[in-house]
Amino acid sequence: MLNQQQSRIRVLPDGAIAFTDPRPDLLPLIQMFDPNFTVRTAPLPGFFRPHLLDTRATGSGLRMTGMSDSNDGELWAAHDRALGYPAPKEPDEGSLLDVKIELATRMLRHCELCALRCGVNRLRGERGRCGLGAEAFVYESYTHIAEEPPINPAVNLSLRGCGMRCVYCQQAPALDPRGTAVEVLVPTFWNRLDFNQARSLVFIGGNPTESLPSVLAFLGAAPADFDLPIGWNCSGYDSPDAIRLLDGVVDVYIPDYKYAGDNCATTLSDAAGYATNVAHAIAAMLKQNVPVMVRVLVLPDHVECCHSPALESLAALSGYGELYISVQGTYLPEWKTLSSDSSLSRRPQQEEIERVRTRARELKLKLIE
Ligand code: SF4
Ligand SMILES: [Zn+2]
Repeated sequence: MLNQQQSRIRVLPDGAIAFTDPRPDLLPLIQMFDPNFTVRTAPLPGFFRPHLLDTRATGSGLRMTGMSDSNDGELWAAHDRALGYPAPKEPDEGSLLDVKIELATRMLRHCELCALRCGVNRLRGERGRCGLGAEAFVYESYTHIAEEPPINPAVNLSLRGCGMRCVYCQQAPALDPRGTAVEVLVPTFWNRLDFNQARSLVFIGGNPTESLPSVLAFLGAAPADFDLPIGWNCSGYDSPDAIRLLDGVVDVYIPDYKYAGDNCATTLSDAAGYATNVAHAIAAMLKQNVPVMVRVLVLPDHVECCHSPALESLAALSGYGELYISVQGTYLPEWKTLSSDSSLSRRPQQEEIERVRTRARELKLKLIE
């Protein structure tokens, strides 16, 4: 069953026990090893109710029946007008969310949802690197109890497909949309999600942006009493138009900031242009007036080339919105790094993790501790 996948528990070479993606049923076991472990929570700044509910109730100025006849320019104009000057939707009017779904679906004809910009027609069966067509596929869904306190515990909805190829990917099986036990993301999947212990719903991957049209359609079917913030945990290799369509849908962004230079981005993730893209993507997220919690996963030997310059570039953005930094020391060798003899086949040293945190404090960035 998708909802009952287990946490991964690993004994590391130094004898330490690592729990990856811990779930509520593991809490007693985790506390046996670490009596200080608690399920930490904190308010999500500025959150009152999901933006999605308003976006679904906002009119687009276009009749639902005529929406498919509008050209892309007319749809984007209606989109931006409705975002800027929201008015209640009339009965035969398409909503702002309907316009977003139409635009996102049209983007599949020449796909540039992620920054790889394959340009394939996913509606006609062509496939880019993510391997996705028009549908989204669920890899797993579960409640995670060790996310950042403002979203913790989170129902994580993990989607297959990704435009990046990180050699240390923790979700490598999720990269393949044609993997085993594929499940299409359809509106009835809401019935499968258990929000009993959750404080947020977070889309993860793979990378969720590659599945944007289906996710928006799925969100259109959210129950009327759904009242949790929606998080978007993305790679930072997301296109500007995709982020524009997430405006008014996402309540908190949780992007990665993996690399500050193209050499590391290309060598480790085959993601040309990542460094430029991620900085622009985070700037665009901040303009949407929702919290942006940037994850910096400390990679061994990448403090100087990537993490320090990344923090410096984030410091330059910190005046533009609610920016938080989550420094993560949880890197474990995975996938292609398991058999590698590079520095990525070891965990980061505590000193490296502390150096990243210290640099963030020096730059007066708000650290999620
Ligand atoms: S989402 Fe990215 S990888 Fe997939 S087809 Fe579009 S541009 Fe290519
Ligand atoms: Zn680097």
